[in-house]
Amino acid sequence: QPVDLYRVFGNPVHHSQSPWIHQAFARETGQTLVYETCEAPLDDFAGVLRAFIAQGGRGANVTVPFKEEAYALCDVLSPRARQAGAVNTLQLGKNGQLYGDNTDGVGLVRDLTQNHGQTLAGKRLLVLGAGGASRGVIAPLLAEQPAQLHIANRTAAKAEALAAHFESLGSVSGGGWSSLSDCDVQAAARYDVVINATAASLSGELPPLPDTLFTPEAMAYDMMYGAMPTIFLQWASSQGAITADGLGMLVEQAAESFFLWRHQRPQTDAVIKALRQRLNHGAD
Ligand code: NDP
Repeated sequence: QPVDLYRVFGNPVHHSQSPWIHQAFARETGQTLVYETCEAPLDDFAGVLRAFIAQGGRGANVTVPFKEEAYALCDVLSPRARQAGAVNTLQLGKNGQLYGDNTDGVGLVRDLTQNHGQTLAGKRLLVLGAGGASRGVIAPLLAEQPAQLHIANRTAAKAEALAAHFESLGSVSGGGWSSLSDCDVQAAARYDVVINATAASLSGELPPLPDTLFTPEAMAYDMMYGAMPTIFLQWASSQGAITADGLGMLVEQAAESFFLWRHQRPQTDAVIKALRQRLNHGAD
């Protein structure tokens, strides 16, 4: 019996921790599988995916920049993939149909609520950024029934469009950085949870945020992760917020993909701890 084959497709993808995470899950649940990285050419994700399916691939993760293309290629989409307009998890059905799901949002919500003990119901949430990562998490965040979810982005029109897209799901608004200046004048307009879903941390930049953004017990979350706290988390910490990076989200979205493929839910605590150590010791 050949070993079940999984891949993560991206470009670039060599830095991906997903093979390590899925092997850890496989060990923990006593399963045998192969999980590899695959850097697909920017102009032929579809061709590379077809070849993988022909080779007998069972499932795949999809990362930047192919999530929207993966969405378009699927025969069947989960409700959360449809809401996100993007697919990060592919599964090949017995009848050869390609099934697409999106586990990023549930990964973030589990990390916030289970690993960091946050309650989102009734809270004021702020999501910075209106790209793919932001789009994937808005519906799962709204499902937690926050009092308000505001999306702020460098390009205001993209945040407004995203808010309009999700307005049937809850109290959601969007605007440019200047839409945050309300916080200066109204203590009630501060945020309980602020999630940085911009790519700004990648280039060491801090979005122009007001000094009065956080409520006293607020949490600042950066989807980016690494050995060092991002500039956003350093700033948030100096403002008195509790901070967390996106490593837990990465592991939780992987756990949800693993569950979809293998019907067994891995424990994530030990994997998060071990991955943190691995990053701290220079694995990149
Ligand atoms: P996109 O390229 O789709 O979107 C980028 C967003 O960041 C846009 O809103 C863009 O604004 C904004 N942005 C980019 N540069 C800056 C800057 N210098 N200052 C302010 N805003 C900026 O990227 P993604 O949404 O796919 O990814 C965003 C981040 O989330 C990445 O760091 C990625 O690694 C991380 N991520 C983490 C995951 C995890 O599991 N932990 C999962 C998915 C993503 P504009 O619209 O104006 O261009």
